[in-house]
Amino acid sequence: MARVELRNLRKIYPGNIEAVKNANLTVEDREFVVLVGPSGCGKSTTLRMIAGLEEISEGEIHIGDTLVNDVPPKDRDIAMVFQNYALYPHMTVYKNMAFGLMLRKYPKAEIKKRVHEAAEILGITDLLDRRPKALSGGQRQRVAVGRAIVRQPKVFLFDEPLSNLDAKLRVQMRAEISKLHNRLQSTMIYVTHDQVEAMTMGDRIVVMLNGVIQQVDAPLDLYHKPVNKFVAEFIGSPPMNILGGELFGQNGDMRFRAAAGAVDLCVPASMRERLGSYAGKKILCGIRPEDLSENETQIVHPGTSIEAPIEVVEPMGSEIYLYLNVGGQSVTARIKADREPKEGVPHVLDVNMENVHFFDPDTELTVV
Ligand code: ADP
Repeated sequence: MARVELRNLRKIYPGNIEAVKNANLTVEDREFVVLVGPSGCGKSTTLRMIAGLEEISEGEIHIGDTLVNDVPPKDRDIAMVFQNYALYPHMTVYKNMAFGLMLRKYPKAEIKKRVHEAAEILGITDLLDRRPKALSGGQRQRVAVGRAIVRQPKVFLFDEPLSNLDAKLRVQMRAEISKLHNRLQSTMIYVTHDQVEAMTMGDRIVVMLNGVIQQVDAPLDLYHKPVNKFVAEFIGSPPMNILGGELFGQNGDMRFRAAAGAVDLCVPASMRERLGSYAGKKILCGIRPEDLSENETQIVHPGTSIEAPIEVVEPMGSEIYLYLNVGGQSVTARIKADREPKEGVPHVLDVNMENVHFFDPDTELTVV
């Protein structure tokens, strides 16, 4: 197995499109790292450069102790699973899985052993004689993964492998790929645009935007300590609420006010020093929907609650999402399922101020 290192990696496509800008990343041996970000942020390009399917414009890629910039894909000891599975339609499942090994002239007995082992792990032994067109989407997906497993590569690369599956199957396959990682103990790099997939699967997550790595961290560190507004909003569902407002007061009594006075929140003592230079200035306040809770008495507590009309109530079964209009700014809250909030009625929500985040309105970097 192996670590993968990207050093000052850049990709410039014809037309001067800079898809990846100076990426630095070390994926440790046996680590499961997820590259996540919105469409077009450069995730696939990065993965394809690691695979050797895309030329590197600048920088270096190391797999294990080898600089692989000029090593052809077949000699990189990696296996890639694609979004569209890329199975050979005229071959049986067995042959699809065996084909790569046959090309590499592995002994027949070894190929048989590996294919049967992989099929066993993936629960597709009874499908080995079928052709891809006689398989469901989920089964094809397993064959595509099986084809990667039989190679016993140093590194597995996954490019949005679950995108073509329905929601339920996606959740199931997510867990299966995580189990596979535990079992094979190999280095895996996984690309997705889905932050839930990233959060649930990755040991560490790389968040990208516009070709730039924004943050590399363990899932909960990303959630609790986002480095900027983009990461804060991208990780977590429903997304973090961002309110534009101003800070007033100094150390003794610092307030965040927004929405023409509809929001007047007391900044916790632990944050005041870091926010000192923003006194009297504009700032962005980030509040996660789960840090807004329904006030049981429906009486406004100055400094820690917000009152605003409910625009939409979405019962989710296990909880309720409320969409409120806070002085023209839309705010989402997650509250307990046993409540009966009414649309159109003003509602009082308590804010867990210890968990709020503040961002600089110009740089959008986290202040606290
Ligand atoms: P992602 O996987 O995050 O959706 P990509 O890596 O596919 O993003 O693309 C990153 C950027 O590079 C996008 O702006 C995309 O339009 C551009 N791009 C991707 N492939 C090519 C190509 N072959 N030629 C020119 N531009 C490309």
